Amino acid sequence: MILIVDDRPENLIPLKKILEREGYMVHTATSGEEALKKIIKKTYTLIILDVQMPGMDGFEVAETLKLSSVSRDIPVIFLSAVKVEKKFISKGYESGGIDYVTKPIDEELFLLKVRNLYNLSVQNRQLIEVKDRLQKENTIRRDTEERLKETVEQLEYILESLPQIAFTVDSSGNIDFMNSQWAADENLKDMFSSVHPDDLEKAKSKWIKAQKTNTVSQFEVRLKNKPTEEYRWFLFRAIPVKKRNIDEITWVGTFTDIEEQKKIEKQKDDFLGIASHELKTPLTSLKAYFQLMERILKSTENIELQKYMEKMHEQIDRLKFLIGDLLDVSRIQSGRFTFDKTSFEFEPFLDNVLDNIKEMYPSVTLKKSGGAAIKLYADKSRIEQVLLNYLTNAIKYSPERKEIIVESLVKDSNELEVRVTDFGIGIPKEKQDHLFEKFYRVEESAIRFQGLGIGLYISAEIIKRHGGSFGVESELNEGSTFYFTLPLNGTHA
Ligand code: ADP
Repeated sequence: MILIVDDRPENLIPLKKILEREGYMVHTATSGEEALKKIIKKTYTLIILDVQMPGMDGFEVAETLKLSSVSRDIPVIFLSAVKVEKKFISKGYESGGIDYVTKPIDEELFLLKVRNLYNLSVQNRQLIEVKDRLQKENTIRRDTEERLKETVEQLEYILESLPQIAFTVDSSGNIDFMNSQWAADENLKDMFSSVHPDDLEKAKSKWIKAQKTNTVSQFEVRLKNKPTEEYRWFLFRAIPVKKRNIDEITWVGTFTDIEEQKKIEKQKDDFLGIASHELKTPLTSLKAYFQLMERILKSTENIELQKYMEKMHEQIDRLKFLIGDLLDVSRIQSGRFTFDKTSFEFEPFLDNVLDNIKEMYPSVTLKKSGGAAIKLYADKSRIEQVLLNYLTNAIKYSPERKEIIVESLVKDSNELEVRVTDFGIGIPKEKQDHLFEKFYRVEESAIRFQGLGIGLYISAEIIKRHGGSFGVESELNEGSTFYFTLPLNGTHA
C-alpha cells in the first residue's frame, strides 16, 4: 500500500491513477498532519511526500516518521518543484529508502523510482520479520535451556541426597554426573573401573545389552572400596530416560551397598547347609532302627501298634523329603547340584510316577491326557522330583476338588512338554512371577498350607540345568497349570 501526500488534488489524482494503473493500492492525504494520522493506523510500504505544503511540510513529516520504530523504515519519495539536494533530504534519514522526483513529473522515471523503493521496502519488511522470528526463537531456546539446566540441577540435588552412589549417563553412554558418595578421585568416565575382575565381563555385557534394548538394567557386582582396597557387593540399577520430543535416551542409575545383606544371606545359606546335613545323620539312623523294629514287631498281631508304625513311617518319610529339599537348596547355592543323566522311555516312567501318587493319595482322581512315546536323556530321579513336586502341590492346593490332569506332548518334534492342571485355589496374577524363587510362598495361602517354599525353586533349577523351560498359568479360585519343557536334542526314539 502506497500513501501519497499532497495538498493539491490536481497533483494527487493523476499520481494516484498512474500508480493504480500499475497495480498498486493507493491511499491519499492532503496534509502532513493527516498523513501522520494515517501512518499510525496503517502500515505503508512507500510514502510519496510533497515537499511544499501549508502546515507541516514534507521534510517535517519525514523527520517525524523517523522518530517512531513503526514508520522509521518506510521509504519516502519527495515531490518537489525545484531540484532538492540529496545531501539535504537524507540528513538524519539513514535507512537508505529515500529519493526525490521533480515536478513536472517524468512518469517513466517516477515509476522506476516507485518500483525500486517499493521492492526495497517489501524486502526490508521480510528481513525484519525473519530477524524478529529468529530473535523470538532465540529467546525461547534460551528459556528452554535455562529451564533444562534448572531441572538437571534439581535432579543432581536429589541424586546428591541419596545414600547410594548415584549417577547419570548421557545419550552417548558417558557418565555426566556422579554424586559424592563415589570416591572423588575415581575416574568419572568409567563406572566399571572399580568392578571386581571376576564380575567385570558379566557387568559390562549386561550394561551394553540394556543400552541396546533401552530396558532397565539390574545386577549385582563387587566394587573396590578405594581407601580399604576391599571389595563389597553392590546392586547396580539403571533406568532409561527418554527425553520428550527427542529420540535420545539418557540414564539415571544407582549402586546400592548390599554387602551386609549378602553376608546375612550367606550365613543363612551356610546354616541351612550345615543344619540339613546334621539332621540327615540322625534321620538315617532313626530310619534304620525303625526298620529293625518293624521287622521284630511284624510278628506281633497288635493292630494298633501296626497303625502307629505306619504313621511313624509316613512322618519319617516326610522328614526325609524336607531334609532332602533343604540339602538340595544348599547344593544349588554351593554349585554342588550334580546330575546323573541316562536314557529312558518317558511314558512308562510317567505311568510309574502316577501309580505312586495314586497309591499315596487314593482319594485323588488322576487323568492322563496326550502322550509322548519318546526317550529322554535326563536325570531320571531329578525329573521325577519335579513331577512329584508339581503333583503334590496340585493336590495340596486343591482342598475342595481333588481332580488332576497330567498332559504330555511332543512339540515341534524337538521338545517334550508336561502340564499338570488342578482345579484348586489358583494364584493371583501379580504373584505368579515369583513362584519359582527361593522361599517364596503366596501369603494368602501360606497360613492354610504347610510348606517351605523351595519345591518350585528346586524344580526350576533342575529344569534349567536340563536346558528346558517352566512356568505357570493360573486363575485365582479356578485352578492352575504348572508346566515344564525338556529339549529332546535328537535323543528321543
Ligand atoms: P511350598 O508348597 O512348600 O510352599 P513350593 O515352592 O512348592 O513351596 O511352592 C511355592 C508356592 O507356590 C506355594 O507356597 C504356593 O503358594 C504356590 N503354589 C505352588 N503350587 C500351587 C498350586 N498348584 N496351586 C496354588 N498355589 C500353588
